[in-house]
Amino acid sequence: MMSTNNSDEYDIAIIGGGMVGASLACLLANTSLRIALVDRQLFDESAIPVTQVQPKFDARVSAITAASRNLFDQMGLWDDIAAMRCCGYSNMQVWDADGTGSVSFSAGDVNQLELGNIVENSVILSALYKKLDLIDHVDLITPFSIESFQRDQDAKKITLRSIDGNNLTAKLLVAADGASSKIRELAEFATKEWDYNHLALVTTVKTEAAHRNTAFQRFMPTGPLAFLPLAESASDSGQKFSSIVWSAIPERSEELMFMSDKEFALELSRSIENKLGAIEWLDKRFVFPLRQRHAKDYVQDNIALVGDAAHSIHPLAGQGVNLGLLDVQVLAQELIQGLQAGRNVADMTVLKCYQRKRVGHNLGMMWMMEGFKYLFAERPLPVRWFRNLGMRGVDNIPLVKNQLARRAMGLDW
Ligand SMILES: Cc1cc2nc3c(=O)[nH]c(=O)nc-3n(C[C@H](O)[C@H](O)[C@H](O)COP(=O)(O)OP(=O)(O)OC[C@H]3O[C@@H](n4cnc5c(N)ncnc54)[C@H](O)[C@@H]3O)c2cc1C
Repeated sequence: MMSTNNSDEYDIAIIGGGMVGASLACLLANTSLRIALVDRQLFDESAIPVTQVQPKFDARVSAITAASRNLFDQMGLWDDIAAMRCCGYSNMQVWDADGTGSVSFSAGDVNQLELGNIVENSVILSALYKKLDLIDHVDLITPFSIESFQRDQDAKKITLRSIDGNNLTAKLLVAADGASSKIRELAEFATKEWDYNHLALVTTVKTEAAHRNTAFQRFMPTGPLAFLPLAESASDSGQKFSSIVWSAIPERSEELMFMSDKEFALELSRSIENKLGAIEWLDKRFVFPLRQRHAKDYVQDNIALVGDAAHSIHPLAGQGVNLGLLDVQVLAQELIQGLQAGRNVADMTVLKCYQRKRVGHNLGMMWMMEGFKYLFAERPLPVRWFRNLGMRGVDNIPLVKNQLARRAMGLDW
């Protein structure tokens, strides 16, 4: 059930109604917990894509792994997402600017129909919010921007205060408030941070040639450029739209942002080595700063961090939200098991189990991204030889390649 301002006491307050926080609320649908889903902004209904003569796409998309798709299916959301719009991709080509190293992945190699799906973030949010509207023990409290919080003396509950003076009390606070998490900062969770010195430029384009359900990624010394296939509608056969994620050092990003549409279109097709022909149309460009960050602990008395609040990762492997969804899947399982065993919702044993199950996996993925970023930056020739030898090696050894693909799909972790 949706409401606006509520001063009641809750079992759980989830701060942040993005894809991760809203998923946690849905995963707890079959409990009797009173849940507040709190966000500083209203969910923007106008962001929901509609198929028009000239389709409008959300510039923010996510490569959704098979594991995340299964989770959405389990929540009863996948059919709704697919009916709105998503694009399965069955091939992926990755290569470097030197032209000497390349790897290609195909769904057939791992006995799957697709490697993953490219879905607009607003499509996922729309499906989540439709479902949340039907759950009467979840209240959406918005707009509520956190200013401070206070634990009571015996740490049995936390009171949150918004910047406009509203209060809300809960036994457990789940911080799903994204990479710049206010809760993480207020609670003084220690973090390890890697400054990437990269910005991600995103936009949508229409290309001359069809993408054939293939994702393309070219690594350049200034950063990777990805073309992610989009579908125009649920029954699209044109296959000419792609979402662009172009990560680059700030100087390059600035250069790309200041180009005219015509110059940018030419630079884009040149930079992807003309794989999809000319760029026939392009949407507005946006940039996002990138930073890799990992909280040393995910839990404290009455608080758990999930999603980007716990870890933010370079988008080059499209893992960010997928890792966040695994976090909330595990947290929901642990909370439900704890409740069945008669434990309090904020029981530290339960929270620590969640932390133990997620930290290693998230860190492993982050180190892998750090390695990629290092290898593909401007490096001396011998490093580039080894890197390209490694890429060719991976491409030629099916077992290694399949293991990598299964891991990226979230099938093995
Ligand atoms: C360019 C780019 C491309 C990406 N591509 C992929 C991809 O292909 N695949 C993938 O898996 N991941 C991808 N990611 C990462 C992915 O977008 C994030 O991991 C994901 O959005 C994190 O979700 P979240 O719900 O944890 O946080 P967010 O999406 O950041 O949501 C946080 C929510 O908290 C709310 N909030 C924030 N502060 C407060 C406050 N003080 N009070 C109340 N509410 C607050 C915000 O309004 C927001 O709704 C990409 C990221 C970028 C930048």
